[in-house]
Amino acid sequence: MIDLRSDTVTKPSLEMRKAMYNAEVGDDVYKEDPTANELEKYAAELLGKEAALFVPSGVMGNQICLNVLTEHGDEVICEKDAHIFQYESGSPAALSGLQLSLVEGNERGIFSSEQIEPLIRPTSAYYMARTKVIEIENTHNRAGGTINPIENIISISKLAKKYNLFLHLDGARIWNASVETKISVSDYAKYFNTVSCCLSKGLGAPIGSIIAGSKELIEKAFRVRKAWGGGMRQVGILSAAGLYALKNNINRLKEDHEKAKLFAEGISKISDLCINKNLVETNIVMFSPKNISVDEFLSKCKNKGLLLGTGKVGVIRAVTHIDVTFEQINEAIKIIETIFS
Ligand SMILES: *Cc1c(COP(=O)(O)O)cnc(C)c1O
Repeated sequence: MIDLRSDTVTKPSLEMRKAMYNAEVGDDVYKEDPTANELEKYAAELLGKEAALFVPSGVMGNQICLNVLTEHGDEVICEKDAHIFQYESGSPAALSGLQLSLVEGNERGIFSSEQIEPLIRPTSAYYMARTKVIEIENTHNRAGGTINPIENIISISKLAKKYNLFLHLDGARIWNASVETKISVSDYAKYFNTVSCCLSKGLGAPIGSIIAGSKELIEKAFRVRKAWGGGMRQVGILSAAGLYALKNNINRLKEDHEKAKLFAEGISKISDLCINKNLVETNIVMFSPKNISVDEFLSKCKNKGLLLGTGKVGVIRAVTHIDVTFEQINEAIKIIETIFS
């Protein structure tokens, strides 16, 4: 099977498993796990933040960050296809009493500061929710792995300063943006109060995300993680995989982007598919079949040994990753060609 459903399907490599096997561990609820402590220190430095915290998932990472930045009844501005709105089980409302104010981004899922300034509610209006956070997703998952230009982020951060708002980065795939633009992750992170980044996607770790911010915010986050059941004991086993991923698997993401471009180029020649190759910037490819349904297309691919996922309604999503080779990408293109021949 060629599995292009997601970059989360990757399995820890032998070297990563060795690092896990050899990890020194302790009770992380007592902050006595040396490997977890090392990962958090390393990640904080990499992201240019005072402190970082290992969390079990990207969803928990985003939600803890939103929680520590807000109070019940506050409002968070985000894009209408943002992960925190589409794929986090309603948890901004359920866990932190937040409402989301949705902005429609462009075809890349990007909104401008001009677009959101009118959404910021006046602090004098006591009868309105308080706008507290602006959230940006980079790369943007549902828009197809697109990169938010740094100039746009800077412009939004100026707006946030002007109105005293916090900025949160859902940087599940910030590593992909960084290797593509050559802008360091700390140069992205510096505009944000909190960042959340996945270790378990393209970086190939089995489990976990990192959140980072000021010492004060991460101390608050430590308490919230425990309250939500995310305080783990000998978590160094997992942290060792994360550390291995951060030290060895960031630069190779470039290869995943080449695979995505190769795949997009190949399938763009098939007239029964609709695809905009220009939107393929990192490791995600979005496309639609013209004459058959998404379900029919997916099942035909599956029968021939190719697994694909879905994005927005009517859209197929293919994600390249560490466990798929260039040869398999060529094979995947052939499989799709035979479906329409
Ligand atoms: C995958 C993802 C998350 C959350 O990841 P989980 O680890 O599956 O909880 C958050 N944001 C974005 C943009 C993602 O792609």
